[in-house]
Amino acid sequence: MHPYDHPTFRMACEQFELVADFLEIPQGDRARLCMPKRALSVSIPIHRDSGATEVFYGYRVQHHLTLGPTKGGIRYHPEVTLGEVAALAMWMSWKCALAGLPYGGAKGGVACDPATLSATELERLTRRFTQEIIPFIGPQIDIPAPDLGTHEQIMAWMMDTYSTHHGHSVPGVVTGKPVSLGGSVGRREATGRGVAFLANRAMDSLGLRADQATAIIQGFGNVGSVTAQCLARHGTRIVGVADARGAIYRPTGIPLQELEAHVARHGSVAGFTEAEAIDPAALLIQPCDVLVPAALERQITEHNALQLRCRVLAEGANGPTTPAADRLLAQRGDVLVVPDILCNAGGVVVSYFEWVQDLQSFFWNETEVVDRLYRILEGAFAQTYKFSRDRQVSPRTAALALGIERVWKAKKLRGLFP
Ligand code: NAD
Repeated sequence: MHPYDHPTFRMACEQFELVADFLEIPQGDRARLCMPKRALSVSIPIHRDSGATEVFYGYRVQHHLTLGPTKGGIRYHPEVTLGEVAALAMWMSWKCALAGLPYGGAKGGVACDPATLSATELERLTRRFTQEIIPFIGPQIDIPAPDLGTHEQIMAWMMDTYSTHHGHSVPGVVTGKPVSLGGSVGRREATGRGVAFLANRAMDSLGLRADQATAIIQGFGNVGSVTAQCLARHGTRIVGVADARGAIYRPTGIPLQELEAHVARHGSVAGFTEAEAIDPAALLIQPCDVLVPAALERQITEHNALQLRCRVLAEGANGPTTPAADRLLAQRGDVLVVPDILCNAGGVVVSYFEWVQDLQSFFWNETEVVDRLYRILEGAFAQTYKFSRDRQVSPRTAALALGIERVWKAKKLRGLFP
Protein backbone atom coordinates (compact mmCIF):
# COMPACT_ATOMS: atom_id res chain seq x y z
CA MET A 1 0.00 0.00 0.00
CA HIS A 2 1.34 3.49 -0.88
CA PRO A 3 0.49 6.77 0.87
CA TYR A 4 -1.73 7.99 -1.96
CA ASP A 5 -4.43 5.32 -1.66
CA HIS A 6 -7.84 7.04 -2.10
CA PRO A 7 -10.85 6.36 -4.38
CA THR A 8 -9.97 9.33 -6.63
CA PHE A 9 -6.31 8.27 -6.91
CA ARG A 10 -7.43 4.71 -7.74
CA MET A 11 -9.70 6.17 -10.42
CA ALA A 12 -6.82 8.19 -11.94
CA CYS A 13 -4.62 5.04 -11.89
CA GLU A 14 -7.38 2.97 -13.54
CA GLN A 15 -7.66 5.55 -16.34
CA PHE A 16 -3.87 5.56 -16.66
CA GLU A 17 -3.65 1.74 -16.90
CA LEU A 18 -6.32 1.63 -19.65
CA VAL A 19 -4.34 4.12 -21.69
CA ALA A 20 -1.00 2.46 -20.87
CA ASP A 21 -2.42 -0.82 -22.25
CA PHE A 22 -3.64 1.01 -25.36
CA LEU A 23 -0.23 2.69 -25.89
CA GLU A 24 1.55 -0.58 -25.00
CA ILE A 25 3.71 1.15 -22.41
CA PRO A 26 6.08 -1.45 -20.92
CA GLN A 27 5.35 -2.41 -17.29
CA GLY A 28 8.74 -1.04 -16.21
CA ASP A 29 7.84 2.49 -17.36
CA ARG A 30 4.36 2.59 -15.82
CA ALA A 31 5.03 3.35 -12.14
CA ARG A 32 7.58 5.96 -13.19
CA LEU A 33 4.89 7.72 -15.23
CA CYS A 34 1.95 7.24 -12.90
CA MET A 35 3.23 7.75 -9.34
CA PRO A 36 3.93 11.29 -8.08
CA LYS A 37 7.56 12.39 -8.07
CA ARG A 38 7.30 13.94 -4.61
CA ALA A 39 4.84 15.19 -2.00
CA LEU A 40 4.90 17.40 1.06
CA SER A 41 2.48 17.05 3.96
CA VAL A 42 2.32 19.86 6.53
CA SER A 43 0.59 20.75 9.79
CA ILE A 44 -0.76 24.30 9.89
CA PRO A 45 -1.41 25.66 13.39
CA ILE A 46 -3.40 28.91 13.48
CA HIS A 47 -5.07 31.10 16.08
CA ARG A 48 -8.84 31.10 15.62
CA ASP A 49 -10.59 34.44 16.24
CA SER A 50 -11.79 32.98 19.55
CA GLY A 51 -8.16 32.75 20.72
CA ALA A 52 -8.11 28.93 20.48
CA THR A 53 -5.33 27.22 18.52
CA GLU A 54 -6.32 24.79 15.78
CA VAL A 55 -4.16 22.62 13.56
CA PHE A 56 -5.12 22.04 9.91
CA TYR A 57 -3.45 19.62 7.50
CA GLY A 58 -2.19 20.60 4.07
CA TYR A 59 -0.51 18.91 1.11
CA ARG A 60 1.36 19.70 -2.08
CA VAL A 61 2.05 16.97 -4.63
CA GLN A 62 4.32 17.34 -7.68
CA HIS A 63 3.58 14.65 -10.20
CA HIS A 64 6.49 14.86 -12.65
CA LEU A 65 9.39 17.24 -13.26
CA THR A 66 10.32 16.13 -16.78
CA LEU A 67 9.06 19.07 -18.84
CA GLY A 68 9.57 22.09 -16.58
CA PRO A 69 8.26 23.36 -13.26
CA THR A 70 5.03 21.89 -11.93
CA LYS A 71 1.70 23.69 -12.06
CA GLY A 72 -1.64 23.21 -10.36
CA GLY A 73 -4.27 24.61 -8.05
CA ILE A 74 -4.69 24.78 -4.30
CA ARG A 75 -7.97 23.37 -2.97
CA TYR A 76 -9.64 24.29 0.33
CA HIS A 77 -12.29 21.68 1.11
CA PRO A 78 -13.08 19.51 4.17
CA GLU A 79 -12.43 16.28 2.26
CA VAL A 80 -8.98 17.15 0.91
CA THR A 81 -6.55 14.24 1.41
CA LEU A 82 -3.07 13.43 0.14
CA GLY A 83 -4.53 10.82 -2.23
CA GLU A 84 -7.11 13.18 -3.73
CA VAL A 85 -4.44 15.84 -4.27
CA ALA A 86 -2.15 13.23 -5.89
CA ALA A 87 -4.90 12.22 -8.34
CA LEU A 88 -5.53 15.86 -9.26
CA ALA A 89 -1.76 16.39 -9.74
CA MET A 90 -1.62 13.41 -12.12
CA TRP A 91 -4.52 14.80 -14.20
CA MET A 92 -2.73 18.17 -14.32
CA SER A 93 0.28 16.43 -15.90
CA TRP A 94 -1.76 14.92 -18.72
CA LYS A 95 -3.70 18.21 -19.15
CA CYS A 96 -0.56 20.35 -19.48
CA ALA A 97 0.98 17.87 -21.92
CA LEU A 98 -2.21 17.74 -24.02
CA ALA A 99 -2.22 21.56 -24.26
CA GLY A 100 1.53 21.60 -25.05
CA LEU A 101 2.50 23.59 -21.92
CA PRO A 102 6.04 23.28 -20.50
CA TYR A 103 4.91 21.99 -17.11
CA GLY A 104 4.47 18.88 -15.03
CA GLY A 105 1.31 18.59 -12.97
CA ALA A 106 0.93 19.53 -9.31
CA LYS A 107 -1.89 20.11 -6.87
CA GLY A 108 -2.22 21.21 -3.27
CA GLY A 109 -4.87 21.57 -0.68
CA VAL A 110 -5.83 22.14 2.91
CA ALA A 111 -8.52 20.08 4.64
CA CYS A 112 -10.78 22.86 5.90
CA ASP A 113 -14.21 24.34 5.28
CA PRO A 114 -13.51 27.89 4.09
CA ALA A 115 -17.17 28.85 4.68
CA THR A 116 -16.63 28.43 8.44
CA LEU A 117 -13.45 30.57 8.56
CA SER A 118 -13.51 34.36 8.94
CA ALA A 119 -11.50 36.44 6.47
CA THR A 120 -8.73 36.92 9.05
CA GLU A 121 -8.62 33.18 9.84
CA LEU A 122 -8.47 32.41 6.13
CA GLU A 123 -5.56 34.82 5.75
CA ARG A 124 -3.67 33.30 8.71
CA LEU A 125 -4.28 29.79 7.38
CA THR A 126 -3.11 30.74 3.88
CA ARG A 127 0.02 32.54 5.08
CA ARG A 128 1.04 29.72 7.42
CA PHE A 129 0.39 27.06 4.75
CA THR A 130 2.48 29.08 2.27
CA GLN A 131 5.26 29.49 4.85
CA GLU A 132 5.37 25.70 5.36
CA ILE A 133 5.64 24.97 1.62
CA ILE A 134 8.07 27.80 0.68
CA PRO A 135 11.02 25.44 0.06
CA PHE A 136 8.80 23.34 -2.24
CA ILE A 137 7.42 26.10 -4.54
CA GLY A 138 8.81 28.92 -6.73
CA PRO A 139 8.51 30.30 -10.26
CA GLN A 140 11.01 27.70 -11.55
CA ILE A 141 9.90 24.89 -9.22
CA ASP A 142 6.15 24.74 -8.73
CA ILE A 143 3.52 27.44 -9.31
CA PRO A 144 0.19 27.20 -7.42
CA ALA A 145 -3.14 28.67 -8.64
CA PRO A 146 -6.76 28.81 -7.44
CA ASP A 147 -8.98 25.73 -7.37
CA LEU A 148 -12.10 24.67 -5.47
CA GLY A 149 -12.58 26.91 -2.41
CA THR A 150 -9.72 29.33 -3.24
CA HIS A 151 -9.65 32.59 -5.18
CA GLU A 152 -7.49 35.55 -6.17
CA GLN A 153 -7.30 37.07 -2.68
CA ILE A 154 -5.81 33.78 -1.43
CA MET A 155 -3.27 33.89 -4.29
CA ALA A 156 -2.41 37.49 -3.29
CA TRP A 157 -1.66 36.35 0.31
CA MET A 158 0.44 33.44 -0.99
CA MET A 159 2.41 35.75 -3.29
CA ASP A 160 2.92 38.27 -0.46
CA THR A 161 4.10 35.61 2.03
CA TYR A 162 6.54 34.12 -0.48
CA SER A 163 7.80 37.58 -1.56
CA THR A 164 8.30 38.74 2.04
CA HIS A 165 10.41 35.65 2.70
CA HIS A 166 12.59 36.40 -0.34
CA GLY A 167 12.86 40.15 0.26
CA HIS A 168 11.45 41.22 -3.10
CA SER A 169 8.25 40.80 -5.12
CA VAL A 170 7.96 37.43 -6.83
CA PRO A 171 4.69 37.62 -8.78
CA GLY A 172 5.51 34.50 -10.84
CA VAL A 173 5.23 32.20 -7.80
CA VAL A 174 1.44 31.91 -8.19
CA THR A 175 -1.08 32.51 -10.95
CA GLY A 176 -4.70 33.58 -10.63
CA LYS A 177 -3.58 36.69 -8.69
CA PRO A 178 -5.41 40.01 -8.88
CA VAL A 179 -4.48 41.83 -12.10
CA SER A 180 -3.11 44.75 -10.05
CA LEU A 181 -0.44 42.41 -8.56
CA GLY A 182 0.76 40.92 -11.84
CA GLY A 183 -2.21 38.71 -12.58
CA SER A 184 -3.38 38.25 -16.16
CA VAL A 185 -6.50 39.80 -17.57
CA GLY A 186 -8.86 36.98 -18.46
CA ARG A 187 -7.46 34.47 -15.93
CA ARG A 188 -10.49 34.54 -13.65
CA GLU A 189 -12.81 33.79 -16.58
CA ALA A 190 -10.43 31.43 -18.40
CA THR A 191 -11.65 28.03 -17.25
CA GLY A 192 -15.36 28.72 -17.75
CA ARG A 193 -14.70 30.53 -21.01
CA GLY A 194 -12.81 27.47 -22.25
CA VAL A 195 -15.54 25.07 -21.10
CA ALA A 196 -18.16 27.08 -23.01
CA PHE A 197 -15.94 27.35 -26.12
CA LEU A 198 -15.42 23.58 -26.20
CA ALA A 199 -19.06 22.81 -25.39
CA ASN A 200 -19.97 24.96 -28.41
CA ARG A 201 -17.40 23.11 -30.56
CA ALA A 202 -18.94 19.81 -29.45
CA MET A 203 -22.46 21.07 -30.22
CA ASP A 204 -21.27 22.20 -33.67
CA SER A 205 -19.89 18.75 -34.38
CA LEU A 206 -23.30 17.23 -33.54
CA GLY A 207 -25.15 19.79 -35.64
CA LEU A 208 -26.78 21.39 -32.57
CA ARG A 209 -27.37 25.14 -32.57
CA ALA A 210 -26.14 26.97 -29.47
CA ASP A 211 -29.01 29.47 -29.68
CA GLN A 212 -31.56 26.65 -29.50
CA ALA A 213 -29.77 24.58 -26.88
CA THR A 214 -30.27 24.11 -23.15
CA ALA A 215 -27.68 23.50 -20.42
CA ILE A 216 -27.55 22.29 -16.82
CA ILE A 217 -24.61 23.29 -14.62
CA GLN A 218 -23.51 21.54 -11.41
CA GLY A 219 -21.39 23.96 -9.34
CA PHE A 220 -21.85 27.73 -9.49
CA GLY A 221 -18.42 28.92 -8.38
CA ASN A 222 -15.68 30.26 -10.61
CA VAL A 223 -15.97 27.59 -13.32
CA GLY A 224 -19.72 26.96 -13.28
CA SER A 225 -20.86 30.58 -13.17
CA VAL A 226 -18.56 31.77 -15.97
CA THR A 227 -19.48 28.75 -18.11
CA ALA A 228 -23.16 29.62 -17.62
CA GLN A 229 -22.60 33.26 -18.61
CA CYS A 230 -20.57 32.35 -21.71
CA LEU A 231 -23.07 29.73 -22.87
CA ALA A 232 -25.92 32.18 -22.32
CA ARG A 233 -24.09 34.79 -24.39
CA HIS A 234 -24.41 32.41 -27.38
CA GLY A 235 -28.13 32.06 -26.74
CA THR A 236 -28.08 28.77 -24.79
CA ARG A 237 -30.78 28.57 -22.11
CA ILE A 238 -29.48 27.61 -18.65
CA VAL A 239 -32.32 25.46 -17.30
CA GLY A 240 -30.74 24.07 -14.13
CA VAL A 241 -28.01 25.00 -11.64
CA ALA A 242 -26.81 23.18 -8.51
CA ASP A 243 -24.32 24.05 -5.81
CA ALA A 244 -23.28 22.56 -2.46
CA ARG A 245 -26.45 23.76 -0.75
CA GLY A 246 -29.20 23.10 -3.29
CA ALA A 247 -30.39 22.97 -6.88
CA ILE A 248 -32.85 24.93 -9.01
CA TYR A 249 -34.61 24.15 -12.27
CA ARG A 250 -36.62 26.20 -14.77
CA PRO A 251 -37.18 24.70 -18.23
CA THR A 252 -37.82 28.12 -19.79
CA GLY A 253 -34.40 29.38 -18.65
CA ILE A 254 -33.00 30.83 -15.43
CA PRO A 255 -32.33 34.59 -15.42
CA LEU A 256 -28.58 34.57 -14.72
CA GLN A 257 -28.09 38.17 -13.62
CA GLU A 258 -30.78 37.81 -10.98
CA LEU A 259 -29.30 34.45 -9.93
CA GLU A 260 -25.84 35.98 -9.52
CA ALA A 261 -27.25 38.79 -7.40
CA HIS A 262 -29.03 36.17 -5.25
CA VAL A 263 -25.81 34.12 -4.85
CA ALA A 264 -23.85 37.27 -3.95
CA ARG A 265 -26.40 38.00 -1.19
CA HIS A 266 -27.07 34.49 0.13
CA GLY A 267 -23.96 32.48 -0.84
CA SER A 268 -25.95 29.82 -2.69
CA VAL A 269 -28.44 29.23 -5.50
CA ALA A 270 -30.76 27.70 -2.88
CA GLY A 271 -33.81 29.85 -2.17
CA PHE A 272 -33.82 31.54 -5.60
CA THR A 273 -37.53 32.14 -6.11
CA GLU A 274 -37.53 32.55 -9.91
CA ALA A 275 -36.93 28.81 -10.38
CA GLU A 276 -38.19 25.59 -8.78
CA ALA A 277 -36.13 23.87 -6.11
CA ILE A 278 -35.14 20.37 -7.25
CA ASP A 279 -33.24 17.46 -5.72
CA PRO A 280 -29.58 17.96 -6.79
CA ALA A 281 -29.21 14.34 -7.92
CA ALA A 282 -32.43 14.60 -9.98
CA LEU A 283 -31.17 17.78 -11.68
CA LEU A 284 -28.35 15.87 -13.37
CA ILE A 285 -30.80 13.61 -15.19
CA GLN A 286 -33.16 16.30 -16.50
CA PRO A 287 -33.24 16.71 -20.29
CA CYS A 288 -30.71 19.20 -21.71
CA ASP A 289 -28.28 19.49 -24.59
CA VAL A 290 -25.20 20.23 -22.47
CA LEU A 291 -24.53 18.95 -18.97
CA VAL A 292 -21.61 20.66 -17.22
CA PRO A 293 -20.37 19.10 -14.00
CA ALA A 294 -18.29 21.95 -12.47
CA ALA A 295 -17.97 20.95 -8.81
CA LEU A 296 -16.44 17.74 -7.46
CA GLU A 297 -15.04 14.40 -8.62
CA ARG A 298 -17.08 11.23 -9.16
CA GLN A 299 -20.49 12.78 -9.84
CA ILE A 300 -21.34 10.76 -12.97
CA THR A 301 -21.20 7.16 -11.84
CA GLU A 302 -22.60 3.74 -12.80
CA HIS A 303 -25.76 4.80 -10.89
CA ASN A 304 -26.74 7.74 -13.12
CA ALA A 305 -24.76 7.33 -16.40
CA LEU A 306 -27.57 5.48 -18.14
CA GLN A 307 -30.13 8.05 -16.98
CA LEU A 308 -28.37 11.16 -18.31
CA ARG A 309 -30.47 12.98 -20.91
CA CYS A 310 -27.82 15.29 -22.36
CA ARG A 311 -26.13 15.20 -25.77
CA VAL A 312 -22.83 16.76 -24.64
CA LEU A 313 -21.13 16.11 -21.29
CA ALA A 314 -18.70 19.03 -20.89
CA GLU A 315 -16.50 18.26 -17.88
CA GLY A 316 -15.66 21.54 -16.14
CA ALA A 317 -14.67 19.73 -12.93
CA ASN A 318 -11.69 17.44 -12.63
CA GLY A 319 -12.57 13.75 -12.57
CA PRO A 320 -16.37 14.11 -12.54
CA THR A 321 -16.96 10.82 -14.39
CA THR A 322 -15.88 7.43 -13.05
CA PRO A 323 -14.38 4.74 -15.31
CA ALA A 324 -17.51 2.57 -14.72
CA ALA A 325 -19.69 5.45 -15.95
CA ASP A 326 -17.37 5.92 -18.93
CA ARG A 327 -17.96 2.31 -19.96
CA LEU A 328 -21.75 2.82 -19.79
CA LEU A 329 -21.56 6.08 -21.74
CA ALA A 330 -19.46 4.34 -24.40
CA GLN A 331 -22.08 1.55 -24.68
CA ARG A 332 -24.85 4.14 -25.07
CA GLY A 333 -22.89 6.04 -27.69
CA ASP A 334 -25.31 8.98 -27.71
CA VAL A 335 -23.45 11.35 -25.34
CA LEU A 336 -20.42 13.22 -26.66
CA VAL A 337 -17.96 13.60 -23.78
CA VAL A 338 -15.58 16.57 -23.68
CA PRO A 339 -13.13 15.09 -21.17
CA ASP A 340 -11.92 17.12 -18.19
CA ILE A 341 -8.25 17.39 -19.15
CA LEU A 342 -9.36 19.03 -22.40
CA CYS A 343 -12.55 20.77 -21.30
CA ASN A 344 -11.23 22.69 -18.28
CA ALA A 345 -7.71 23.30 -19.66
CA GLY A 346 -8.49 26.98 -20.27
CA GLY A 347 -7.55 27.75 -16.66
CA VAL A 348 -4.03 26.37 -16.84
CA VAL A 349 -3.50 27.78 -20.34
CA VAL A 350 -4.14 31.34 -19.12
CA SER A 351 -2.18 30.58 -15.93
CA TYR A 352 0.71 29.76 -18.27
CA PHE A 353 0.18 33.13 -20.01
CA GLU A 354 0.19 34.84 -16.60
CA TRP A 355 3.47 33.15 -15.61
CA VAL A 356 5.08 34.12 -18.95
CA GLN A 357 3.91 37.74 -18.50
CA ASP A 358 5.27 37.83 -14.91
CA LEU A 359 8.67 36.42 -15.96
CA GLN A 360 8.93 39.02 -18.72
CA SER A 361 7.23 41.87 -16.80
CA PHE A 362 5.40 42.49 -20.06
CA PHE A 363 1.62 42.35 -19.99
CA TRP A 364 -0.90 41.45 -22.67
CA ASN A 365 -4.38 42.82 -23.32
CA GLU A 366 -7.55 40.76 -23.11
CA THR A 367 -7.85 40.25 -26.88
CA GLU A 368 -4.34 38.75 -27.00
CA VAL A 369 -5.11 36.47 -24.04
CA VAL A 370 -8.45 35.24 -25.38
CA ASP A 371 -7.22 34.76 -28.99
CA ARG A 372 -4.25 32.73 -27.83
CA LEU A 373 -6.44 30.75 -25.41
CA TYR A 374 -8.90 29.79 -28.15
CA ARG A 375 -6.08 28.88 -30.54
CA ILE A 376 -4.59 26.42 -28.04
CA LEU A 377 -7.99 24.94 -27.11
CA GLU A 378 -8.98 24.60 -30.76
CA GLY A 379 -5.74 22.75 -31.49
CA ALA A 380 -6.18 20.38 -28.52
CA PHE A 381 -9.85 19.80 -29.44
CA ALA A 382 -9.00 19.00 -33.08
CA GLN A 383 -6.16 16.64 -32.11
CA THR A 384 -8.28 14.84 -29.53
CA TYR A 385 -11.26 14.17 -31.78
CA LYS A 386 -9.08 13.24 -34.76
CA PHE A 387 -7.22 10.72 -32.59
CA SER A 388 -10.56 9.44 -31.26
CA ARG A 389 -11.94 8.94 -34.78
CA ASP A 390 -8.75 7.53 -36.32
CA ARG A 391 -8.01 5.09 -33.50
CA GLN A 392 -11.64 4.28 -32.62
CA VAL A 393 -11.30 5.18 -28.94
CA SER A 394 -13.33 7.44 -26.66
CA PRO A 395 -12.44 11.15 -26.50
CA ARG A 396 -11.19 10.60 -22.92
CA THR A 397 -8.83 7.82 -24.01
CA ALA A 398 -7.69 10.00 -26.91
CA ALA A 399 -6.99 13.05 -24.73
CA LEU A 400 -5.21 10.99 -22.07
CA ALA A 401 -3.22 9.06 -24.68
CA LEU A 402 -1.99 12.29 -26.29
CA GLY A 403 -0.94 13.70 -22.90
CA ILE A 404 0.55 10.53 -21.44
CA GLU A 405 2.48 9.68 -24.62
CA ARG A 406 4.13 13.13 -24.64
CA VAL A 407 5.32 12.72 -21.05
CA TRP A 408 6.42 9.13 -21.70
CA LYS A 409 8.45 10.18 -24.77
CA ALA A 410 10.04 13.09 -22.88
CA LYS A 411 11.07 10.75 -20.05
CA LYS A 412 12.61 8.34 -22.57
CA LEU A 413 14.55 11.19 -24.24
CA ARG A 414 15.88 12.51 -20.94
CA GLY A 415 16.80 9.00 -19.76
CA LEU A 416 17.03 7.75 -16.20
CA PHE A 417 19.45 9.35 -13.73
CA PRO A 418 22.05 8.12 -12.77
P1 NAD B 1 -15.34 27.13 -6.58
O1 NAD B 1 -14.99 26.89 -5.17
O2 NAD B 1 -15.25 28.50 -7.15
O3 NAD B 1 -16.85 26.61 -6.85
C1 NAD B 1 -17.27 25.32 -6.55
C2 NAD B 1 -18.76 25.22 -6.70
O4 NAD B 1 -19.15 23.85 -6.55
C3 NAD B 1 -19.53 26.01 -5.64
O5 NAD B 1 -20.69 26.58 -6.25
C4 NAD B 1 -19.93 24.93 -4.65
O6 NAD B 1 -21.10 25.28 -3.90
C5 NAD B 1 -20.20 23.79 -5.61
N1 NAD B 1 -20.23 22.49 -4.96
C6 NAD B 1 -19.42 22.00 -4.00
N2 NAD B 1 -19.83 20.78 -3.63
C7 NAD B 1 -20.90 20.48 -4.40
C8 NAD B 1 -21.76 19.38 -4.48
N3 NAD B 1 -21.60 18.31 -3.71
N4 NAD B 1 -22.78 19.42 -5.38
C9 NAD B 1 -22.97 20.50 -6.17
N5 NAD B 1 -22.17 21.58 -6.13
C10 NAD B 1 -21.16 21.56 -5.25
O7 NAD B 1 -14.46 26.09 -7.43
P2 NAD B 1 -14.06 26.16 -8.97
O8 NAD B 1 -12.76 26.86 -9.07
O9 NAD B 1 -15.23 26.62 -9.77
O10 NAD B 1 -13.77 24.62 -9.28
C11 NAD B 1 -14.81 23.71 -9.63
C12 NAD B 1 -14.21 22.48 -10.32
O11 NAD B 1 -13.48 22.90 -11.47
C13 NAD B 1 -13.22 21.68 -9.46
O12 NAD B 1 -13.32 20.31 -9.84
C14 NAD B 1 -11.88 22.22 -9.90
O13 NAD B 1 -10.83 21.29 -9.66
C15 NAD B 1 -12.15 22.39 -11.39
N6 NAD B 1 -11.25 23.33 -12.05
C16 NAD B 1 -11.10 24.61 -11.63
C17 NAD B 1 -10.25 25.47 -12.32
C18 NAD B 1 -10.10 26.92 -11.93
O14 NAD B 1 -9.44 27.65 -12.68
N7 NAD B 1 -10.70 27.40 -10.86
C19 NAD B 1 -9.52 25.00 -13.42
C20 NAD B 1 -9.70 23.68 -13.84
C21 NAD B 1 -10.57 22.86 -13.16
